[in-house]
Amino acid sequence: MAENSSDVIESLVNLKITGDDEMDVSNSDDKSKQKKDDISDDDNPDKSSAFADEDCVICLDKLTDAKTLKKCSHSFCTLCIDQHFKNTPHCPVCFTVYGIKTGNQPKDGYMDAKVNQKIQLPGYEGHGAIVLYYSFFDGIQTEEHPNPGRPYFGTNRTAYLPNTSEGQKVLRLLKEAFKRRLVFTVGSSRTTGCDNVVTWNDIHHKTNTCGGTEEFGYPDSTYLRRVQEELAAHGVTEESILQN
Ligand SMILES: [Zn+2]
Ligand SMILES: [Zn+2]
Repeated sequence: MAENSSDVIESLVNLKITGDDEMDVSNSDDKSKQKKDDISDDDNPDKSSAFADEDCVICLDKLTDAKTLKKCSHSFCTLCIDQHFKNTPHCPVCFTVYGIKTGNQPKDGYMDAKVNQKIQLPGYEGHGAIVLYYSFFDGIQTEEHPNPGRPYFGTNRTAYLPNTSEGQKVLRLLKEAFKRRLVFTVGSSRTTGCDNVVTWNDIHHKTNTCGGTEEFGYPDSTYLRRVQEELAAHGVTEESILQN
């Protein structure tokens, strides 16, 4: 048991030093001593396994041809992390965003947003509303869609955000998500069950001003937070807009 732990520590230290050129070696020695103490003083297997960085969290096996990510310094097998980034744009451990994920939303879509001070959203009285307009023509599916060569039906959607600073932030994120072709996709509609239609892509919108969550409207005090989480799951954050 004790031997295993010190093996882990050694490879951890090697990894850190090779992974980060700027790291002060004496400083990292201090840290490794600190970690050694932590492990020997603590018999909790959960805690010691948290230090077993030599295992790749994707394949749960020993690191093979390790690749260390630049921004967050987490390491994975090169094959594992390359495969992961094909589907998701963030580090599987800490969710730091790498690269840009784009979707298969039809390219000829249209998005507009206008402030309407006369619309009062329950829970945001006095702020007015941002009205979002989306429009897609009918078209033919391409290789990136489920049934290439077959037609799909377009759609027109209207959605509402409160005209607060947080609502304006969500608008900025939604515009970016639209640019990255992530807001809509082509597939079957969850609400109508129809196939081959332009439909929402897991970034929820409020298509009613009122009626609460059951009617896809307001009030819904956690909606703005949830939609930002959904956007972040697609890699759309304010940081990712600034970086790219
Ligand atoms: Zn792996
Ligand atoms: Zn990370």
